[in-house]
Amino acid sequence: MTSPAGAGRYAPSPSGDLHLGNLRTALLAWCFARASGRRFLMRIEDLDRARDTGAAQRQLGDLARIGIDWDDEPVQQSDRAAAYAAAIAQLSDAGLVYECTCSRKDILAAPSAPHAPPGAYPGICRERTPAERAEARARIAPRLPAVRLRVPQGTSAPGFIDRVLGPVHGDIDDFVLLRGDGTVAYNLAVVVDDAAMGVDQVVRGDDLAPSTPRQILLQRLLGLPAPPEVEYAHVPLVLGPSGARLAKRDGAVTLGQLRDAGVTDGEVLGWLATSLHLAQPGERVTAATVLSRFDPAAVPTEPWTWRLATS
Ligand code: GLU
Repeated sequence: MTSPAGAGRYAPSPSGDLHLGNLRTALLAWCFARASGRRFLMRIEDLDRARDTGAAQRQLGDLARIGIDWDDEPVQQSDRAAAYAAAIAQLSDAGLVYECTCSRKDILAAPSAPHAPPGAYPGICRERTPAERAEARARIAPRLPAVRLRVPQGTSAPGFIDRVLGPVHGDIDDFVLLRGDGTVAYNLAVVVDDAAMGVDQVVRGDDLAPSTPRQILLQRLLGLPAPPEVEYAHVPLVLGPSGARLAKRDGAVTLGQLRDAGVTDGEVLGWLATSLHLAQPGERVTAATVLSRFDPAAVPTEPWTWRLATS
């Protein structure tokens, strides 16, 4: 399991301060990486919003505050446009992309292809002639077409064995690689960046497990490392008192808010460790202690429901 050359990572989107669910996922990603002798890297996923260095810096500060450390300078996706363009060009040269002029409404109105999974792109733009493509482009101007992956005929969705979830399968359609507004899609960016950063262990929230088969397909089509060389661990989310996924509306859920409520960073780390069965309730622990007790095979598979009063 030990892979000195490999790396794990945490890849937050800088949309605001990290909440307890994000911090717990980050702590798990750090434990998985460090316990296996891997390097641990940070990536700021600031593709689909204006660069917000304020939030990114606060997120990094909060991670450091609970004892998470990382190697190298954080990678910022907004600096990586050339790498994404090169990957799209590689797929394009191989005939694996096509332009899509569909609006959301067009997709909803189209009959779905037989046997297609619900919500799958029905392939409206897939088989256009150059003349039809030019006409479709002109029709949506000044909007620009999106770029979709042309999933090769006969491709079956790549399943994988997740270290927490076990076997995972998912559906694949001709998903978007580049949006009409020029924004690179998450699935493409994550695959390109993980490979460039030498990441061979991906630990993240289990809401992203269904995206993973798409990412594995892209890894294969781009000739990048894929499972079993790359391992995945999708960890359960944290739920708020209502039973829904923890969100800012659940009250004091960020380190800053909790500090204002009189809770120390060490206490928060203690809660997270307790939720992972790596500390006794009320026990004061350091991140190093949490790491020394960490067993990747014993990560709880059930979501943790957080309530301030009972934590
Ligand atoms: N940026 C994503 C998020 O904050 C995580 C992506 C990933 O880990 O692959 O949910």
